[in-house]
Amino acid sequence: MRLVRFDEGRIGVLQGETVHDATTALGLDPAAWPPVGMLQLIRNFAALKPKLDAAARAPGIPLGEVRLLAPIVWPHNLFAYPVNYIAHQTEMASTHRADLNGYFLKATSSISGPQDPIVLPDLPSREIHHECELAVIIGKGGRHIATGKAMQHVFGYSCLMDITVRGKEERVMRKSYDTFTPIGPALVTADEVGDSGNLDMKLWVNDDLRQHATTRDLIVDIPNMVALASSVSSLEPGDVIATGTPEGVGPIRHGDRVTIEIERVGRMTIPVEQGSGGYNLALRREERK
Ligand code: MN
Repeated sequence: MRLVRFDEGRIGVLQGETVHDATTALGLDPAAWPPVGMLQLIRNFAALKPKLDAAARAPGIPLGEVRLLAPIVWPHNLFAYPVNYIAHQTEMASTHRADLNGYFLKATSSISGPQDPIVLPDLPSREIHHECELAVIIGKGGRHIATGKAMQHVFGYSCLMDITVRGKEERVMRKSYDTFTPIGPALVTADEVGDSGNLDMKLWVNDDLRQHATTRDLIVDIPNMVALASSVSSLEPGDVIATGTPEGVGPIRHGDRVTIEIERVGRMTIPVEQGSGGYNLALRREERK
């Protein structure tokens, strides 16, 4: 099943090019704050699935007539794995590696949707890079999850871009600007994706294919990423794990269109816009050289 959030925070089932609105059937208030209806749906998915199925049989709305939002916002945690593909470690000349360093966190406020632009901070001396990643969405929460049971805790998958200001300051800050984590276009349940250990993933900037890899080449695989994160923190329904980028990262600029496509998960194209502001005292290092 492909779940989407759209318009003012409604939740629906995407079938082909049609969105079937399930908001009312699920008893959700799209205007509720905080906007955690999808987290509640994930937590109660087994009980609510018949209502989703019924909504999916009713007439829908053409996809082109809705505005898609990030399928998940306000997750309890947004975990992200650093260098998790050998070839990316080589290109970054990095001594960091997911199996040696573990994960970091991104601000959950950096999440944006499949029809939202990436807004670049005004940092003329810096490169701001795209990273093409598979997002793993947690279903059943838990702590100290064994690797062998980890896939039972995976609810589904989405496409994710981990946008990054290159530099030596705290990684969390450089990766946490608003709109630096586009997620979408849908949240695809695990049963529909099947084996996530061998998914083809691609990223284009405009028409140039910049990244092309498979999740088969992950250094720390998905079960071990879930187990590792849960060894530290309690996982909750809707938690997001950004699984790391393969090689081919590079700069994005105003006017670019960045497209991500992951086999059986989806495809979305995000425009890049130059914003204003974003400079701060912690970013002086490069400018002083
Ligand atoms: Mn990344």
